[in-house]
Amino acid sequence: MNQWSNIVPEQIRYSDAALQALARRPAHFIDGEWVLSDSGKTLDVIDPSSGKVVGQIADASEAEVNRAVAAARRAFDDGRWTGLPPMVRERLIHRLADLIEAHAGEFAELEAIDNGKPASAAKAMDIPASINLIRYMAGWATKLGGEMIDPCAMPNGTYHAYVRREPVGVAAQIVPWNFPLLMAAMKIAPALAAGCTLILKPAEQTSLTALRLADMVAQAGFPAGVVNVVTGLGRGAGDQLVRHPDVDKVAFTGSTETGKMINRSATDTLKRVTLELGGKSPVIVLPDVDVGAAALGAAGAIFFNSGQICVAGSRLYAHRSIFDKLMEGVVAAADNLWRPGPSLAPETRLGPLVSHQQRDRVMGYIEAGKKEGASVLTGGDAPSANGYYVNPTVMVDVNPTMSVVREEIFGPVLVAQRYDDLDEVARAANDTPYGLGASIWTRDVGQMHSLAARIKSGTVWGNCHAVIDPALPFGGYKESGLGREQARAGLEAYTEQKTVIIAL
Ligand code: NAD
Repeated sequence: MNQWSNIVPEQIRYSDAALQALARRPAHFIDGEWVLSDSGKTLDVIDPSSGKVVGQIADASEAEVNRAVAAARRAFDDGRWTGLPPMVRERLIHRLADLIEAHAGEFAELEAIDNGKPASAAKAMDIPASINLIRYMAGWATKLGGEMIDPCAMPNGTYHAYVRREPVGVAAQIVPWNFPLLMAAMKIAPALAAGCTLILKPAEQTSLTALRLADMVAQAGFPAGVVNVVTGLGRGAGDQLVRHPDVDKVAFTGSTETGKMINRSATDTLKRVTLELGGKSPVIVLPDVDVGAAALGAAGAIFFNSGQICVAGSRLYAHRSIFDKLMEGVVAAADNLWRPGPSLAPETRLGPLVSHQQRDRVMGYIEAGKKEGASVLTGGDAPSANGYYVNPTVMVDVNPTMSVVREEIFGPVLVAQRYDDLDEVARAANDTPYGLGASIWTRDVGQMHSLAARIKSGTVWGNCHAVIDPALPFGGYKESGLGREQARAGLEAYTEQKTVIIAL
């Protein structure tokens, strides 16, 4: 148990800008206007650092979802967005990034209030990464083009053929609560650059920054109906969007379970689907490392964002010769650096989990692990506080059949195992239905590359973890997803290819 287990300070006072954002009337952003909920159904906004209700958002009715889809459909079909010169679209997308940048502090605070993540982390990571992603995709608006290909089965010069890249149409974009603004940016930016119109549905736990984003969309001067934001429950508004006949593409980030359901629902109308789902990412430490530095890296890989990251390094595999020393370092980092605290306190590195359901779920996994015979090196408990805290937890004496090793916990819980050789660790790392990320820690370049080639995951990091870049594709193997976000691939996921063949 950590020495601070029962001392979590109170949440800090909100700024006036945050209070103003929290005081807004529950509404959706549809067709360029704020639309008050017709049903009057609302959902509470809860600050996970205090457990207090601090605002309300609208829970979209069927009619409101239909209205948002109709607005996006009209805006796509009449060409008010696709018809603009790409340079104008590029400029507007950049303007959106400028506005977010000008309000970076407010966005970071709202993210901290809504999700529980430290405001300092949101300011250093979530908000700049969102801006970078939007700017990167803005550039593609003027670079996206088709291809001219010479037919191969017809005599030269008898046919002229080319392939156009066209926007896929209306996109329904459903995002989770762990990186609310960044996930929204990853969805809307490529869609806009490709010429699509969209309906964004943020997670019901964390809609504040998506609503502020809609303010910026209005201020930037996007044509009405190009970007629509509806708030509400997944099984209500989310499900309706996925099934809606006027939606051409569904882009989803969230749990594997929901992703599979969405893929099935979207099949009826054969919508284009991209899915970014869960993970159980391995962190593999070879015996030649600087053990102190690797321990800090391994702790960061699991405790950042309180472990609520799809690529959290939740399974640690350390070579037998360094296992004990490495674990000492990870435990020291957990006890000394990753101290739980309220999201707005400047010194906080480990915020609460997003909701009491999530805290209960994580505690349930820890208890199951203990029952199955795992030993807790540190943590394993929750501080007694009103917020949804879980102490950073490290478990050993685990085996591959335990739920703590097999399932995505999505909390600050690390399970650590020893290995003897690279074949064994490659097999163990791949022994999972997931395949999102993995990191390898070694100074041996040869072993790094050879192991990287054997790991079945969308991203492999070397001597770092969870580093992402807009220019590099991100996505999952196996049950971690379908398709890629970011990079050219992320943009092309919002396009159809049209082949034109003309007899000369
Ligand atoms: P979730 O699947 O419950 O919810 C995600 C979103 O889907 C929310 O907006 C929710 O309202 C909506 N939703 C829920 N049920 C729906 C339905 N039936 N139809 C349509 N929409 C529905 O996931 P969560 O608990 O919010 O997020 C945590 C999960 O997200 C974790 O498993 C994590 O690994 C995953 N995640 C993956 C990535 C990635 O890029 N691969 C990134 C972040 C989070």
